[in-house]
Amino acid sequence: MLCCSKNEMKLEADVDTDPICCSQCNCNLDLDDMPLSLELKEKVQNWAMQYGKWIDWHNDRLCENSLELEAEHNHLGQTLSDKIQRELGDGYKVRFSPSLSARHYMSEDSQF
Ligand SMILES: [Zn+2]
Repeated sequence: MLCCSKNEMKLEADVDTDPICCSQCNCNLDLDDMPLSLELKEKVQNWAMQYGKWIDWHNDRLCENSLELEAEHNHLGQTLSDKIQRELGDGYKVRFSPSLSARHYMSEDSQF
């Protein structure tokens, strides 16, 4: 299933990319090819599509409540990665890579 033999993957939402990728070489893994339940795939897909809803892309700045929105998104992502881990079983390692974009934007703003 994975490009490398390690069977380690990470769940990480990003703009326009599949949310699950190989943790060794960072190449995207096709969610459709994963041996997961349809329900979970849909949840992961929906979750990934919500990525960045705390960012006003048009004006390249953060929306109000960006930190809370991102924290919520990260919380759900953690829950989903646990579910993926459970469905895949012990043969695989799934870890969640939380989004830090809101904090990233904030620290840029706070620079002089
Ligand atoms: Zn790989």
